[in-house]
Amino acid sequence: MKTGLIDPFGRTIEYVRLSVTDRCDLRCFYCLPSDYRDFSEPEEWLTFSEIERVISAFVSLGVRRVRITGGEPLVRKNLPALASRLSTIPELNDLSLSTNAVALARHATALQQAGIKRINVSLDSLRADRFKEITRGNLDKVMDGLMAAKHVGFQPIKINMVVMKDVNDDEIEEMVEFCIEHDFTLRLIETMPIGDTGRSAASYYLDLQSVKARLAENFKLIPGVVPGGGPARYVQIAGTSLKIGFITPISQHFCETCNRVRLAVDGTLYLCLGQEHKFEFRPLLRAGIDDAELQAAVRDAITLKPERHEFREKPQQIMRFMAKTGG
Ligand code: SAM
Repeated sequence: MKTGLIDPFGRTIEYVRLSVTDRCDLRCFYCLPSDYRDFSEPEEWLTFSEIERVISAFVSLGVRRVRITGGEPLVRKNLPALASRLSTIPELNDLSLSTNAVALARHATALQQAGIKRINVSLDSLRADRFKEITRGNLDKVMDGLMAAKHVGFQPIKINMVVMKDVNDDEIEEMVEFCIEHDFTLRLIETMPIGDTGRSAASYYLDLQSVKARLAENFKLIPGVVPGGGPARYVQIAGTSLKIGFITPISQHFCETCNRVRLAVDGTLYLCLGQEHKFEFRPLLRAGIDDAELQAAVRDAITLKPERHEFREKPQQIMRFMAKTGG
């Protein structure tokens, strides 16, 4: 019999994505609207102690992996202090971070000392002008952050590239070469219809199956598996150590193996990126529930997990932005 946190569809939940802020220092056009102001307020944010309690409850019930994300997690003050606290939770085996790397050069050493071993960096373009068009940010800062991360020794460093037709799909081969040069892993991601921004970017959607076929014309691809339980399907480029993951929520969804839930900065647990099912932890925490009650609440929350997203069938459905859910 399976033990741990089992959802109504028999999936074991062992991974929490922890959003520590809904704010971001970039404005990727497919993610956050440039004039967006409706961020949560500090009094709504879970404190570090509240986060530690909720994560400890998840871990006591079987969660083994936590990825810190956002918004942009490095805009939350004292993030390394939170990472230090989380990394001492017994049986939390894997603490990682997703970042845009804008502020990573400043924080890389402290984050590594705090117990973060693996990082994912979002990078949609290697061209400064195009990077600015997509994100409104400065590519030099991101490169400084990435190189600092490499120097500090995070392993692996994964590059997340949202691939968009006529926006950056002509850059995939360059990104492959860049990742070979720096020993990064590359993950290509399909654009999802999340929030108005994600929906309006739907016209740039590119089926990654076609990208894989294109890459196979230029490189010898060896099908492979990368441990980690994530949704990416990996290939390796023959003669190199480069692994390329394809994250295909639209063209080939992977909900049947979903092992994760997302805790937003305001204490809302989202059970699925593409559905509204949620559970509110903040009121319970602030009403003073004890640890046993908190564990019971976590179990209750997991019973709400839906079977799958419906990005294809109901692309209008998800109104909240990715930065709010925790990407
Ligand atoms: N700021 C951090 C970062 O850049 O990695 C973490 C949060 S960010 C929302 C997480 C990831 O979500 C990024 O790689 C971003 O490109 C991706 N993302 C945001 N909106 C998306 C969408 N509509 N479709 C696909 N990916 C999206």
